[in-house]
Amino acid sequence: MVIYNTLTRKKEELKPLKENSIGIYVCGPTVYNYIHIGNARPICVFDVLRRFLKYQGYDVKYVSNFTDVNDKIIAQGKKEGLSPEKTAEKYILEFEKDEKGLNVLPPDSRPRVSEYIGKIISMIKTLIENGYAYQSGSDVYYRTRKFTSYGKLSKQSLDELIAGARVEINDLKEDPLDFALWKGADESEQHWNSPWGPGRPGWHIECSAMARDTLGDTIDIHCGGFDLIFPHHENEIAQSEAATGKKFSNYWMHNGHINIDNKKMSKSAGNFFLTREAAEKYGYETIRYLMIQAHYRMPMNYTPELLNACKASLERLYNLKSALEMAEKNSEGGEVREELKTVLNEKRAKFVSALSDDLNTADALSAVFELTREINTLLQGEYSKEEITLCKNTFLELTDILGLLYEDSKDKIPDEVLELSKQRNAARKDKNFALADELRDRISELGYTVEETRQGTRIYKK
Ligand SMILES: [Zn+2]
Repeated sequence: MVIYNTLTRKKEELKPLKENSIGIYVCGPTVYNYIHIGNARPICVFDVLRRFLKYQGYDVKYVSNFTDVNDKIIAQGKKEGLSPEKTAEKYILEFEKDEKGLNVLPPDSRPRVSEYIGKIISMIKTLIENGYAYQSGSDVYYRTRKFTSYGKLSKQSLDELIAGARVEINDLKEDPLDFALWKGADESEQHWNSPWGPGRPGWHIECSAMARDTLGDTIDIHCGGFDLIFPHHENEIAQSEAATGKKFSNYWMHNGHINIDNKKMSKSAGNFFLTREAAEKYGYETIRYLMIQAHYRMPMNYTPELLNACKASLERLYNLKSALEMAEKNSEGGEVREELKTVLNEKRAKFVSALSDDLNTADALSAVFELTREINTLLQGEYSKEEITLCKNTFLELTDILGLLYEDSKDKIPDEVLELSKQRNAARKDKNFALADELRDRISELGYTVEETRQGTRIYKK
């Protein structure tokens, strides 16, 4: 597999540190609200990365944290009349609901800042001992200029960073580029005791401490949104490499952002969508499909037209799934033709080669639709049960790597429609075609098409 590595700005062959095993770290959410549609993208695309590497035979350890200690959580808690701990707990549960809805596998390890304060403090102590950090007042800051390769991920020089004025000016800092590792806090607020007095960790240090503890000094792949490259990931590198003296991550993968109707998503512009709001309207699986229909590094434009197209594509896949299930039930045993095996293997190879090329989910989906067309053609002619089983297994093997088709297709057709279809079949048996037609129209009014196929009665959404 080749991966586009943000660190080198090149596609590189993936060479894991240990043969057959891969450690992945993905920056997780700060749990102070429901996730918006932009947050759903890294969750879905890196879930496909994980599934694909597992499919390739790797033993994958996937780590993603919860930032459960943060000023935003404290502020949100005050609004809701909840303690910071209760606020974090509430939004962790809500996040897990969205994650489940999107069919994202839970990480193998999900560290929380509140459980890592001791390890964070000890990493800060190491950085002070190494001369990379200093105490100032009740805070501790990272001495950015001392880390001479600072800027290597975002490809910016220290001077450019200063000119960018994205750094906070603060009298406690030796240099405006320095960033906080520990912030002193009043004892009346949420705090932990440290050698520098009561306080809370800065945001960046948590990922350095958690990644080291769960995956070791050097990790294989670090993932996150494009907007995290600077300063968050740049700072993670500076902290980890200054603390361990080793390379922090061999590969860095970043997903592109999402625009809403060609505009940047923002609360103030009123074009801000929560994942669950979109899911209520289009279904969680449509949102997952949306996230993987484009290459993960490309910016994506979120429009109702695109969502409707995703929903329709997904329905085509579900229709094939149910047609295959029905054909399997109603067909008889026999041979599997060599030509069919060749076609299925070709489509599988195309799918695998797309994902092996920097996780090109867009091309992988094209291969799935080519396979869909081939199988639909087969269903028009003669086939054996064994052939249908082979088609079904190949089709589901590939859609499963993308994490699709996880809703039971039978559940998608409402009971009312199923009942009308049953009545219609009875009417047809009795040769009461007027009633059968009337029932077909009623099914149609409910948004479903019912038709007789060689495989039996087929019902699908229009
Ligand atoms: Zn992080």
